[in-house]
Amino acid sequence: MDRHELIGWLRETDETRLEALWARADKARRLNVGDEVHLRGLIEVSNHCVRRCAYCGINVTNHEVERYRMTAEEIVGCARQALDLGYGTVVIQAGEDYGLTRDLIAAVVRRIKAETGLAVTLSLGERPDDDLVAWREAGADRYLLRFETSDPELYASIHPSLPGRPSDRFEILRHLRDLGYEIGSGVMLGIPGQTWQTLASDLLAFQGLDLDMIGVGPYLPHPATPLGRGELPEAPPGEQVPNTELMTYKVVALTRLLCPQSNIPSTTALATLNLALGRELGLSRGANVVMPNLTPAPYRALYEIYPGKACIRETANECAHCLSGRIVRMGRQVGRGAGGRDRGEGRG
Ligand code: SAM
Repeated sequence: MDRHELIGWLRETDETRLEALWARADKARRLNVGDEVHLRGLIEVSNHCVRRCAYCGINVTNHEVERYRMTAEEIVGCARQALDLGYGTVVIQAGEDYGLTRDLIAAVVRRIKAETGLAVTLSLGERPDDDLVAWREAGADRYLLRFETSDPELYASIHPSLPGRPSDRFEILRHLRDLGYEIGSGVMLGIPGQTWQTLASDLLAFQGLDLDMIGVGPYLPHPATPLGRGELPEAPPGEQVPNTELMTYKVVALTRLLCPQSNIPSTTALATLNLALGRELGLSRGANVVMPNLTPAPYRALYEIYPGKACIRETANECAHCLSGRIVRMGRQVGRGAGGRDRGEGRG
C-alpha cells in the first residue's frame, strides 16, 4: 500500500468502505497470526521519570504526582501472579527512572526467568547501551520503545532530549534488534501537530523497521502537561489527525495490512475511549494482543500517563477473568506460551 492509498484510508468516512477495511484487516490477522489472543501482563514498576515529554502525565515537571518505585520482590511477585493467571509474558514498564538500576533490573529479569520461565518484555525508555546489553544477557526477550512520531520537528517539540544526549529512537530500535531483542514500537494518534502525511510516514516506518510488535493508541490529553494545556499548535485546518476511537481502528487495521506478521495490541488507551467495546473492536479490526494490568492496586492509580485510564480499580484477577471472558465470547482463544513473533529462529 503506498502513501496515497494510506492517506485515502486515513481520511475515509464511508461506512461501507470502512467495513470492507475492517474485514480485510481481520482476515489478514487470522491468516497470519491466527485466532489466539496473547495476554501480556503489564507491571508499571515506577512512575519516576527524568524526561519532560510534553504529552505524558508522569513527566518530571509534574510535581502533583506522588512518585513510587516497586521493589524487586514486588515485581517478581507480580510475575508469579502472571504465571498463575496463565499469561505467557510480563511487560516491565516505567518512566525513564535511573533509580531502577542496571543491576536491579538484571537481577529481576534473571529471577523471573528462573522462577517462571515467562517471556520478559522491557519498556524502560532510552537507557544507555550498557544497560540494554546487561538486560539482554540477563534473559530479557523483548523491548518496547515507541518512536511516537516520525516527524523529527514534531518529535523534538514533544520529546525534549536530555542535555548532551540526542534522542534517536529509530537508532535505538535498530540497535536493540542487533542485540537480539524482539522489538516493539508505535505512535500516538492525534497528537497536536500530527498531519495525515506524518501519520502515513509513521505507518510506512513500521514496515521499514520490520517490527515484531506495534502499539498504536489515541493521544489522551493530560491537563498537567504542556500539550494538555494547549501550549503546542495544532496542524493547519484540515491537516490535523483527530485523536478519536475511529482513527485508532483505522490505524490498527492499516498496520495489520502493512505488517501482517506483527503482534498488535488492542491498547488500554483505546479501552479508555470505549470501555464497553473498544478492546473487542480493536481485536476484530487487526489486533491480536491485550495487556491486562498486573500493577498492585496502590500504585496503579499513580501511573497516570493520561487521565481516566481504563481498569485502574480492578484487581489483577478481575482483569484476567474479564479479558479472557471477552476473548472467548468473540470466538477467539486465549493464547498459550510466549506468543513471540516466529521468525524461524527459535525465538519467543
Ligand atoms: N518511559 C518509557 C518510554 O518512554 O518508552 C515507557 C513508559 S511511557 C509512559 C509509555 C507510552 O505511553 C509512551 O510511549 C506513549 O506513547 C504513551 N503515552 C504517554 N502519555 C500519553 C498520553 N497522554 N496519551 C496516550 N499515550 C500516552
